[in-house]
Amino acid sequence: MKPAPFEYCRPSSVSEAVDALAAAESGRVLAGGQSLIPAMNFRLTDVSVLVDIRDVAGLDRVTVEPGGVTVGAAATQSRVLADDGAAAVVPGLRVALRHVGHLQIRNRGTVCGSIAHADPAAELPALAVAVDATISVEGPDGGRNIAARDFLLGPFWTALDDAEVVTEVCFPAAPEGAVTVVDEISRRAGDFAVTGLVAIIEPVDAVVRSARLVGFGVGGAPMRLTEAEAALSGWAGHHTDSAVLEAAAADAADAFEDIHATAEYRREVLGALVVRAARKALNSGASP
Ligand SMILES: Cc1cc2nc3c(=O)[nH]c(=O)nc-3n(C[C@H](O)[C@H](O)[C@H](O)COP(=O)(O)OP(=O)(O)OC[C@H]3O[C@@H](n4cnc5c(N)ncnc54)[C@H](O)[C@@H]3O)c2cc1C
Repeated sequence: MKPAPFEYCRPSSVSEAVDALAAAESGRVLAGGQSLIPAMNFRLTDVSVLVDIRDVAGLDRVTVEPGGVTVGAAATQSRVLADDGAAAVVPGLRVALRHVGHLQIRNRGTVCGSIAHADPAAELPALAVAVDATISVEGPDGGRNIAARDFLLGPFWTALDDAEVVTEVCFPAAPEGAVTVVDEISRRAGDFAVTGLVAIIEPVDAVVRSARLVGFGVGGAPMRLTEAEAALSGWAGHHTDSAVLEAAAADAADAFEDIHATAEYRREVLGALVVRAARKALNSGASP
């Protein structure tokens, strides 16, 4: 199918982009277009004006500092995946991006576009919640910074107002010594996850000192697994897995069901991913 007729503009500044969105009946930001264009082609989304942000100066910047990595809204997933400095400070960026689609998609798709799109099965929104990322947006009333957990509200639903543009996302550095694991079950490599996990685990003397766990493809938005985090604290690998599995299942009590999997399957897989991530962290002692 072809999309319904729409207008296209290519502003050169964020304020021009905001003005164009504010003036439009149904304006949408175009970043990499890897999710938006198929949705338009299938007429799943109604767009009167496409506001292409690729010419906005500075939006393709990736800034690596000891405290974190800031990714501009036009920076592609491939660019961030290839950045050794970014991977050293926030290892989760590289390990998450390896799971995102295929090379062709990552060459156009953006990190910020994935977060703004808020697909419940996407890796990057879950990583953003796991590391406490901050999303910066600009709109008609100025700029604001939103914590990832407050930005991602549900399936394809964020805290963005209609005329707001995500300008960048800041991912804080991983704690020293932490191991970041992004693991998932999908039907084929490169497909969206049926169920996935981002885990940031601090092993000390072969024991889990702390764990930050976020599930994706399980609920409408990235799901923090607080009971499994508590169950993993002090876990040493040789303990029985059952307490961890039960805790993860309790966290995912509201897991959804669709044509790909039952809710029960998702709960079981999530628990298995948590145990697998903890064993990997205890065995490696260094980020993959
Ligand atoms: C075959 C295929 C497989 C894929 N597999 C995966 C996968 O395994 N994991 C995964 O995570 N993703 C996957 N994707 C999606 C891919 O990662 C997309 O690139 C991403 O979801 C959207 O990024 P984009 O830059 O292309 O955004 P676009 O498609 O341009 O935009 C997506 C949405 O976000 C909004 N948006 C984008 N940028 C901004 C901004 N700066 N401010 C405000 N709103 C904005 C748009 O208006 C639109 O509503 C896949 C896509 C395809 C086609």
